[in-house]
Amino acid sequence: MSNDRPQVAIIGGGIGGLFAANALIAQGLDVSVYEQAPELGEIGAGFYVTPNSVRQLERVGLGAAVEKWGALVGENSQYLRHDGTPIAPVQVEDASGWNATYGMHRADFVDLLAAGLPDDVIHCGYRGIGFEQDDEKARIWFDNGVKIEADIVVAADGIHSELRPNVYPPSTPVFHGTISYRGLVSRDRLPDWPMDRWLMWAGPSKHFLIFPVRHGEMINYVGFVPTDEEMKESWSAPGDPNVLRAEFEGWDPRIEAVLSEVDHTFRWALYDREPLPTWTNGRLTLLGDAAHPMLPHLGQGANQAMEDGMALAIILANVEKASAPAALLAYEKLRRERVAEIVLGARQNGLRVDSMSAYTDLDRRDAELAAHAEFRKHLYAYDVVPDAEAAATAV
Ligand SMILES: Cc1cc2nc3c(=O)[nH]c(=O)nc-3n(C[C@H](O)[C@H](O)[C@H](O)COP(=O)(O)OP(=O)(O)OC[C@H]3O[C@@H](n4cnc5c(N)ncnc54)[C@H](O)[C@@H]3O)c2cc1C
Repeated sequence: MSNDRPQVAIIGGGIGGLFAANALIAQGLDVSVYEQAPELGEIGAGFYVTPNSVRQLERVGLGAAVEKWGALVGENSQYLRHDGTPIAPVQVEDASGWNATYGMHRADFVDLLAAGLPDDVIHCGYRGIGFEQDDEKARIWFDNGVKIEADIVVAADGIHSELRPNVYPPSTPVFHGTISYRGLVSRDRLPDWPMDRWLMWAGPSKHFLIFPVRHGEMINYVGFVPTDEEMKESWSAPGDPNVLRAEFEGWDPRIEAVLSEVDHTFRWALYDREPLPTWTNGRLTLLGDAAHPMLPHLGQGANQAMEDGMALAIILANVEKASAPAALLAYEKLRRERVAEIVLGARQNGLRVDSMSAYTDLDRRDAELAAHAEFRKHLYAYDVVPDAEAAATAV
C-alpha cells in the first residue's frame, strides 16, 4: 500500500461505522474503528435492509451473510387498516423487480459486519472526546487517555454525536410527539405466523409494524403511539407490555395475538434533526446518524448510513493524503441532498401512516400508501457507486 494513501479513523462501531470500515478496506485503505462500548453489541430489536444497501453489502462480500441471517420478505407484504382491512401491497423490490428486502436482528447485523473485518481493526473501550487538526493531520483523544493521529476522521458516533460540534454548532433534536414500543417474539410462540411478509397497520394517530428477523426465527414488532412525554433519545428504556397491549386494543386480532406473547418491550422516543448545511470540517466528516438522524418511517436510517459508507470509500479509493479534505467535501456534496430528501420524506410518511394532518381523510391516505410503491421502487433502485465514481473524478 502506498504511504501516500490516507489513513482513516472511524469513531463509532455501529452499523454505519462498521459498514464504512468494510467498504474502505475493500478499497485497500488503512482503517481503524474506535467504539466507546467495552464490546460491540446491539439491542434486541429488528430493522430492515433494502435493495439500495443490499447491493452495497454484496459489493463488500457480505451478500451471503445477509441471506443467511436476514429474513427475506416478499410479495405478501401489505398495508392494512387498523382493523385488518387490506389497503395495498408494500413495495419490497426495486424498479428492476429485484427483491432484496430483509428483516434483520440488529445484533446479527453488527456481528456480520464485524466478521467481515480483519482482527486488528476494531478497538472497543475508546470513547472519542476531543478533536483537533492542522494542515498535516487530525488528532482524536479518548476517555481512556489515548490520543491517536489519522489523515481522516469519520464521526459515525450516532444521533448524539460527540464529534459533530466540531463540524457544526449544536442543534436541538426535533421531537415528533411519538414513542415506539418494540421487541421480538420467538417464532415458537406463534408457530402459524407467516414469516414471508412485512405487515403494517395504519390507524388513527398510531401504526403497528411486524416483520420477521433471523431467517424467520423471530417476529419483530413495533407499535408507534402518540405521547406528550418527551423522553431522552434512547431505545433501551423498558416499556410496560400491558400499556402496549392497551394502546392497540380493538385493532386487528392478529396484533392482539402477537402482543399476548410479549414479555418485555422497549420504548423509544422519535427524534430527528433538521438537515445540516455542512457535514465536513477539513479532515473530519460525519456519517450515518451523526450526520442525518431521521425518523424510521421510511426504514432508511441504516440503509442511508451504508450508502454513505460506500460513497466515502469510492471517493477515497484513489486519493492521496493531501487531497483528503477535498475528497471529504466531494463525499458531503454527493450525499447531503439525497439524504435531506429522505429525512423530510420520512416525516411526511410518518404523518401518512399515523393518519395525521391531511391523512385523516382515509381514502386519500390509502391512495397515497398504494402510490408510495413508485417512490420506493426508485429509492431502492438507486446505486450510489456510479455517482461516487463521478464525484471522485472531480477531487
Ligand atoms: C428503533 C429503530 C428502528 C430502526 N429501524 C430501521 C430500519 O428498519 N431500517 C433502517 O435503515 N434504519 C432503521 N433505523 C435507523 C438505524 O438503526 C440508524 O439509522 C442506524 O443504526 C445508524 O447507524 P450509525 O452507525 O450511524 O449510528 P448508531 O447505530 O447509533 O451507532 C453509533 C455507535 O457509535 C458509538 N459511539 C457513540 N459515541 C461515541 C464516542 N464518542 N466514541 C466512540 N463511539 C461512540 C455507539 O456506542 C454506537 O455503537 C432504526 C432506528 C431505530 C432507533
